[in-house]
Amino acid sequence: MKKYNILLIAGDGIGAEVTEGGRRVLERIAQKYNYDFVFDEALMGHCAIEKVGVPLPDETLEKAKNSDAILFGAIGHPMYDQNPALKVRPEQGLLKIRKELGLYSNIRPIRLFDSLLQASSIKPEILQGADILFFRELTGGIYFGKPSGRSDDGETAFDTMMYAKYEIRRIAHQAFSAAQKRKKILHSIDKANVLASSRLWRETVNEIGKEYPEVQIHHIFVDAAAMLLIKNPRMFDVILTENLFGDILTDEASQIAGSMGMLASASVGDKTGIYEPIHGSAPDIAGKGIANPLASILSAALLLDIALGLKMEGQEVTEAVEKTLEQGWRTVDIADLQTPKEQILGTKAMIDKVLANL
Ligand code: NAD
Repeated sequence: MKKYNILLIAGDGIGAEVTEGGRRVLERIAQKYNYDFVFDEALMGHCAIEKVGVPLPDETLEKAKNSDAILFGAIGHPMYDQNPALKVRPEQGLLKIRKELGLYSNIRPIRLFDSLLQASSIKPEILQGADILFFRELTGGIYFGKPSGRSDDGETAFDTMMYAKYEIRRIAHQAFSAAQKRKKILHSIDKANVLASSRLWRETVNEIGKEYPEVQIHHIFVDAAAMLLIKNPRMFDVILTENLFGDILTDEASQIAGSMGMLASASVGDKTGIYEPIHGSAPDIAGKGIANPLASILSAALLLDIALGLKMEGQEVTEAVEKTLEQGWRTVDIADLQTPKEQILGTKAMIDKVLANL
């Protein structure tokens, strides 16, 4: 029996509610195919600050390094959002674990399930068939660049957008190699007309592109890309971009998939990867039992595929989600005016429906 160690980091807010979905789906796959998935749990975020005073306890990092894959929920709490001056913050935990595990590449598939065409705020005829694979650089750029801070008089603040060529090369290879297996089109997004780091980005992407002669490269400025994603999402296949631009564009692109609650992601590098929904801790709905668990379930599908190499099993999970949606089951965030009330489910009932289809 194959044994895999899977670490669950539920985090804050709706994290625990939705991660339950990912965990139960993994348990079902283990049972069905006779795999031995050993689950462990660890703290990160506000809950860790409350309990041990830091957002990423050493114990969590140790467990993370020793696992085969990590299924993560979300971190964040309104008290920090309302008080930017607080020095110890939940997101420091997430940034640190990404850096410590060397997770430089965030892979975000943006795919609209046909049965959700009506749930998006974008017209169905624009959306139908949209299928985009984002590669967002995750450990460089303005979120990590030094110096960053305030002047002594507090009147000026600054951040540094910085990239080294090696950081661009390694994620570019991943994106080109995915593009080669898909439609052989890659859009690289930057702001090379203004930013020096973007000019290095563009130059390096072109250099790496020479190793993938079959892949067409298109460079687009981030402002134009933001507009084109909504105007004509089908023009994109693989998108490669840096950390900050990717953060913003993938949230925008979540509307192509109907809701933040539908989008999964994989953060990978050279060591253990983290599989997580793109949404946050959603304090506005936390504890109400109405959060959409499908992003966590689809993150579990990515975990099976990418971390454990169980492609077919990952596909099965995605198909179970698709079938559940085809049967008309919805959480409130993906329901539309035509959805009958009795088809709108809470988090737990939605997880049960997906499991029934597995
Ligand atoms: P958010 O993603 O938590 O919520 C945005 C909106 O989407 C909210 O209206 C929320 O109710 C809805 N939503 C999100 N996930 C949903 C789901 N599964 N089902 C149904 N609706 C869902 O973003 P925010 O409100 O900007 O941030 C809230 C907190 O989360 C903040 O503290 C922020 O720092 C943190 N955050 C964490 C992560 C992460 O852990 N990766 C990512 C983004 C934000």
